[in-house]
Amino acid sequence: MEVCGGQTHSIVKFSLDEMIPSKIRLIHGPGCPVCVTPLELIDKAISIAARPDVIFCSFGDMLRVPGTSKDLLSVKAEGGDIRFVYSPMDALKIAQDRPDRQVVFFAVGFETTAPANAMAVYQAKALGIQNFSLLVSHVLVPPAMETILSSPQNQVQGFLAAGHVCTVMGTAEYIPLAQKYRVPIVVTGFEPVDILEGISMCVRQLEEGRFEVENQYARSVRAEGNRPAQELVQKIFQVIPRSWRGLGEIPLSGLGLSADYMEFDAERRFDVGHVRAKESPDCISGLVLQGIKKPLECAAFANACTPDHPLGAPMVSSEGACAAYYRYRNRNDSVESSPRQSFGRGPGFLVCKNLDPGQKACRDDGTKKFTVDRR
Ligand code: SF4
Repeated sequence: MEVCGGQTHSIVKFSLDEMIPSKIRLIHGPGCPVCVTPLELIDKAISIAARPDVIFCSFGDMLRVPGTSKDLLSVKAEGGDIRFVYSPMDALKIAQDRPDRQVVFFAVGFETTAPANAMAVYQAKALGIQNFSLLVSHVLVPPAMETILSSPQNQVQGFLAAGHVCTVMGTAEYIPLAQKYRVPIVVTGFEPVDILEGISMCVRQLEEGRFEVENQYARSVRAEGNRPAQELVQKIFQVIPRSWRGLGEIPLSGLGLSADYMEFDAERRFDVGHVRAKESPDCISGLVLQGIKKPLECAAFANACTPDHPLGAPMVSSEGACAAYYRYRNRNDSVESSPRQSFGRGPGFLVCKNLDPGQKACRDDGTKKFTVDRR
């Protein structure tokens, strides 16, 4: 299983999963921060962003993730002051410039983005800025890996751990997981050759009966990680239980503001504890995020669910598995069949030439391959 959605995009973009021996099956993991943000938190963001006294700041991907009834972009169209920023420090600057408004930053991400968000809160307190807060949705990778490994449905025999997370956190916290569950964990980068080497290192460990943490991404990751960044995160945040889309609540799997910085918590400031969410019954993103299903096995893929009209976050996010398949799979000349293969309509997408009139799925032609047009 590749943990990170960035690795998934490389795998699908360069068809690495089709180049490697068929005995090795790559399973896409839950490592897309936008995708694992629970629907309830999206609805809380929408509730806060709709307030007339709020300037709501977020990275672009989150604006199009569907909530229960609408997305943040719809709130913006209805007059909400929602701004797309590149960094939490941009949001802090807006708060400094507009002391008459409350400025909220949607702090989403894994261990990778936590240091920058911690720095924004640290600066806000140091500068005495009182109209700035974070809607926090930080999650931690190792508890999610443990949840997948301890599931009765688990099929994962080895992990490609996310290189950028380990650049911050180091590699030590993966050693107990590798030993307890007897799985190789190879810290891996994002280029195609990184991923192929990571797979090779994983397979070599399995063949030799070793279950160790190895570092393929040594040009960026040190065993101890980035200590100053870790210390800042520990100062501003505390480890708490978090709900993950698709995985449910996992103990000690997230970050929330620590007692000294609780005043910067937007959930408390705007009292959104009553918000309740309802998932789309047609979206199987929970199964996709656990690696149990692939996007092409979703009946809504490229039909009811497209990047223009997404039903779930994995079709929206730049690291989402469904978006990767939608974007890149149509570049192949042929595609492996699967029992629930879905095909898109319109220019540039797969069109099955074996499709009978009125049929909704391609007919298996016996070779397990379909011919496709590149329109
Ligand atoms: S294709 Fe769309 S509906 Fe299906 S799992 Fe992905 S995001 Fe959900």
